[in-house]
Amino acid sequence: MKRTLAPFLFWILSVPCLGQMTNDTVALAKIYEEVLLHGTCHQDLRHLCKNIGHRVAGSASAQKAIEWGKQRLLELGADTSYLMPVEVPKWSRGKTEYGTIHFKNGEQVQIPIAALGGSVASSLRGQVLMVSSVSALEKMDTKELAGKIVFINKPLDAALINTGAAYGNGGETRWRGPKLAESKGAIGCLTRSLTLADDQFPHTGAMEATGIPAAALSAYHSQWLSDQIKDEKDFVFEYHLECENGGRITQANVIGEIKGSVYPNEIITIGGHLDSWDIGEGAHDDGTGCVQSMEVIRTLKALGYQPKRTIRVVLFINEEFGNDGGITYAKKSVENGDRHLAAIESDGGGFSPRGFSTQAPDLRYEQWLKWLPLFEPYNLHTFKRGWSGVDIGPLKNDEVALFALNVDNQRYFDYHHTANDVFENVNKRELQLGAASMASLVYLIDQHFSPLP
Ligand SMILES: [Zn+2]
Repeated sequence: MKRTLAPFLFWILSVPCLGQMTNDTVALAKIYEEVLLHGTCHQDLRHLCKNIGHRVAGSASAQKAIEWGKQRLLELGADTSYLMPVEVPKWSRGKTEYGTIHFKNGEQVQIPIAALGGSVASSLRGQVLMVSSVSALEKMDTKELAGKIVFINKPLDAALINTGAAYGNGGETRWRGPKLAESKGAIGCLTRSLTLADDQFPHTGAMEATGIPAAALSAYHSQWLSDQIKDEKDFVFEYHLECENGGRITQANVIGEIKGSVYPNEIITIGGHLDSWDIGEGAHDDGTGCVQSMEVIRTLKALGYQPKRTIRVVLFINEEFGNDGGITYAKKSVENGDRHLAAIESDGGGFSPRGFSTQAPDLRYEQWLKWLPLFEPYNLHTFKRGWSGVDIGPLKNDEVALFALNVDNQRYFDYHHTANDVFENVNKRELQLGAASMASLVYLIDQHFSPLP
């Protein structure tokens, strides 16, 4: 079926003069059908999560993923694939981590904690001082904090419908809290996880470098610890963290391309980040974005579509711990004289697509808005200005149109940066719909954006 349709499709997809909307409608229908019936992104995600596993930058498993990605892109139909060297940090969590509450009556309770990225190892004990937020901590005197473990117990704002906005607003607890605590004389920092879920998974993530141990507590244990403090229970907290900082090493962004047939020097980049945190499997964050981007290449190839522009998949390394892959890619693009027509990132989890947000120049933006009706049959309704992505962000200039795939993100921060971000929690169909949406946007940009000046 697929084979016999290919010549017909090639004709349909290459003759825009028959009435743009009709042709585009047919093209998008074929793209979604191809991904939903023949897509391989779900099995690629299974391989990445189960055969390779989590992929913190600098780790052996991240290196394994890089080699797999380079080979897999060729199998899926890229003309070429290659590696772009990137310097990344090498930090490891160690084998075990937990916190122990030692009550004065001799009772001990062990609770799960997750070291924040870059934390030092520790077995220190101390009294816990709870604060309601980073702003409250800022106002406190060093005398109150000296020798204490600061516990920043600020929940995310549940009233915000966009959970990404709640995460963004609450992010300073994790990002700034530990270093600020150190500057005030604290000996350790505990942070409430950045999540709206009420479960027992602590969420790790990056923070400003600090010399004191820093770890997250789950929402459930944050509440529990807060109750102990409010009940004036007498206890000390003990960290068990085995982290090691190992300097910097060279890994790579993985790049796969289909060369453009008319404007080979105009690039449409699609990507996600190949690295993940080192707990869970990096399934939603961001194995999803990687396999969806790879699916775009497979789909265009399977449909016999020859793009006018160069379609480039980039699997970025180390988004989580300094955005080294994104920064290096943008810098190399300038050095190589690469010109980007557009870049699309998927890094919001493999949930049902709802639309795109863009940082596009005005003319491109106006043109793109007119494509919204083409996506409505697939339940994409949100075309708006907004954030595009961490990895593609450094590409921003006057001519490139940056896009993020927007998904239904209500459950994203249940899994994000936890041991529960595993393959089983990604829905095959939702993942595929996201990939088809990205492939459709690539097709429309390739067909209809005017050439770069
Ligand atoms: Zn991510």
